[in-house]
Amino acid sequence: EKEKKISDQEKVQKKPSEPAIFIPVDRSPEVQEARLKLPVLAEEQVIMEAVRENPSIVICGETGSGKTTQVPQFLYEAGYASGGRMIGITEPRRVAAVSMSHRVAKEMNLPTQVVSYQIRYEGNVTSDTKIKFMTDGVLLKEIQKDFLLQKYSAIIIDEAHERSVYTDILIGLLSRIVPLRNKKGMPMKLLIMSATLRVEDFTENQRLFRTPPPVIKVDARQFPVTIHFNKRTPLEDYTGEVFHKTCKIHRMLPPGGILVFLTGQAEVHSLCRRLRKFCIQLKMRKLKPQREAGIGDEEDGDSDLDLGDDAADGEEKADASIPLYVLPLYSLLAPEQQAKVFRPPPPGTRLCVIATNVAETSLTIPGIKYVVDCGRVKKRFYDKVTGVSSFKVTWTSQASANQRAGRAGRTEPGHCYRLYSSAVFGDFALFSEAEITRRPVEDLVLQMKDLNIEKVVNFPFPTPPSTEALVAAEQLLVSLGALEEPPCTGRLKEMQRAKLSCPITPLGRAMASFPVAPRYAKMLALGKQQDCLPYVIAVVAAMTVREIFEDLDRPARSEDESSKLNQRRARLTQMRRLWAGQGASLLLGDLMIMLGAVGACEFAGCTPRFCENSGLRYKAMVEIRKLRGQLTNAVNAVCPEVGIFVDAKMTPPTEHQVVCLRQIVLAGLGDHLARRAQGDDLVDPKWKNAYKTPLMDEPVFIHPNSALFKKLPEFVVYQEVMETSKMYMRGVSAVEAEWVPQFLPQYCHFGSPLESPSPWFCSSTGTVRCHRSSTFFRVGWQLPAVEM
Ligand code: ADP
Ligand code: MG
Repeated sequence: EKEKKISDQEKVQKKPSEPAIFIPVDRSPEVQEARLKLPVLAEEQVIMEAVRENPSIVICGETGSGKTTQVPQFLYEAGYASGGRMIGITEPRRVAAVSMSHRVAKEMNLPTQVVSYQIRYEGNVTSDTKIKFMTDGVLLKEIQKDFLLQKYSAIIIDEAHERSVYTDILIGLLSRIVPLRNKKGMPMKLLIMSATLRVEDFTENQRLFRTPPPVIKVDARQFPVTIHFNKRTPLEDYTGEVFHKTCKIHRMLPPGGILVFLTGQAEVHSLCRRLRKFCIQLKMRKLKPQREAGIGDEEDGDSDLDLGDDAADGEEKADASIPLYVLPLYSLLAPEQQAKVFRPPPPGTRLCVIATNVAETSLTIPGIKYVVDCGRVKKRFYDKVTGVSSFKVTWTSQASANQRAGRAGRTEPGHCYRLYSSAVFGDFALFSEAEITRRPVEDLVLQMKDLNIEKVVNFPFPTPPSTEALVAAEQLLVSLGALEEPPCTGRLKEMQRAKLSCPITPLGRAMASFPVAPRYAKMLALGKQQDCLPYVIAVVAAMTVREIFEDLDRPARSEDESSKLNQRRARLTQMRRLWAGQGASLLLGDLMIMLGAVGACEFAGCTPRFCENSGLRYKAMVEIRKLRGQLTNAVNAVCPEVGIFVDAKMTPPTEHQVVCLRQIVLAGLGDHLARRAQGDDLVDPKWKNAYKTPLMDEPVFIHPNSALFKKLPEFVVYQEVMETSKMYMRGVSAVEAEWVPQFLPQYCHFGSPLESPSPWFCSSTGTVRCHRSSTFFRVGWQLPAVEM
């Protein structure tokens, strides 16, 4: 036995490595020249040798060293895209998948039919595609269809340091797929790429790789970056301070691009506006000689933001009349806008990019010499028990802060201004936590069960989620009918173990084939009734796309805008009311607004102009349209007999259909049932107009912008609770009390048969029927008696 193993191993070792093919690429002289400057090019030999000799390798290299754009080309040139197989590259961010595929196509002088991309709802992949950039979620779906990934000869997992959930899972899966492929004589290569050196979670994890994959370090020709800390304890108003620092850099320091890190889109826009205004003022005011303290010392950050004072008594050290070319950069920005940061700024201007985390490692902006780092990051937090999510701005990690600083030293020595003290920096976490430990995992658990990984606890996660999170996920999936109920007998230990290894049901398989989270997948699976599918698909698409509506509550950008904004708000509110409809349809609540918005938008041809006028995000609406097509195909694949097609312009649902839709939504969101506070609770004013949920002690509310704000039905289901100024339910729709025991029996306790009305015999089924009282689990809400 042992001998055989050894000889097998020898065979593998002796097997001649792949023939040294060289597929020529026709690059333009400019591209050639730019390429030669990239540090990763110096390592091409080392990387390709390692690839040839090992099934899996890890490449670490600073952001901007050329990993994403060049490594796929190395593989291509070495023949990995010949013989009908592709090279696949996964990215955690859509922006990166799209933008990098375009870039590589351009560098290689190949059409986008050959160097293509695929993200959730769109792509340009053809049968000629040889290099395919995709989001990590897309590859996970492909593994479900073909576990061996036979279309690929090599998979590159990019940005592994980000530790996105799908990336982690892909690495776990690929650690099994790669040896399988080798065994079957169709070798596949795995390349894991990281912008940081912290890769032990992958390399030293015995459960992942028995022999640790070699780590190749790309020595970036990084220029020194001088770090300037604030001496003072950081201020609350960091955006004001960011503005000051940026202005100062522009006024006083030699040419070179400025990159500012903020936490979100709103902040990015507001700073862009302030800076543009500042430039106009600078231009108008012929600056007098200035006296000012050196950049980067603590003297900065006077809370007085009045630009007049600020500009009046400084000392001018640089030509301040150069205009600042200010560009925003964040992930929801339209692609054409995003692409601008890569182009040289107009001659005689200074580039200034105001970005979120996108610029940290995914996209390298050329020509940056100064970085301004607010030190914060906006993250989504989930409450483990209640599932309530909130976006919170918190300190970033030391690793991220160092990445940000690194952006300043790409082309020459640079400076990074950290708007926090070194003591605060010392308190930052060393690294950001893996995402998988911070969020619910029901979608992942379902996907894995569909891959026949029954004991998800035993999966080789680079960082495993908590058992608590896994149990919660299995519980939810059982109550959705996606997994079989665990047995309630046997010893406690066995029962506990069974709870973590429930087998998947046929319904679960169908749900897993839909590219949406399980609650929504359940709705799709139920959508057949009453010709409701097109509506269910539209509602699910709208619910799963980020932010389809313009934020009505955003503060005015300036004083003159204030009254205009109020008018706009009134008009948009009116419009949403119209979409919500009246009577029966109003009870579908916020989901009816979404349905109305999708319908109206499609009716108008889904133009940017219509969206702008209607307070809809154009990008989201386009995404919904594509997702509807995709979901329709997925549903047709599961039940071909339904044979629906996308009718972009839906007629509004009938009253009957609306009722049906509400019930379908209830079946999917059953664990998100809330009941209006009543009785004793109302003594405390905090419960006024509030709702109770089974898992939370605190009151939750219907948002003033909701369709049901004035209606306040007794029972509602919600999409999620977001904590902003209050705990607000999002995506609310009304529920009739008698539906709860009827459609969510798994969540109800049923009493003994009621005395009256007396039991009666049902001749058609031959059973004795009777009424039973029912209550909602845990909280014991009284529900109407049901006939059983
Ligand atoms: P890494 O993946 O190691 O962070 P990349 O391969 O993304 O590095 O970037 C290598 C170089 O290519 C960088 O200098 C970057 O500015 C440049 N680059 C990337 N995308 C574009 C683009 N769309 N246009 C121009 N230059 C680009
Ligand atoms: Mg990269």
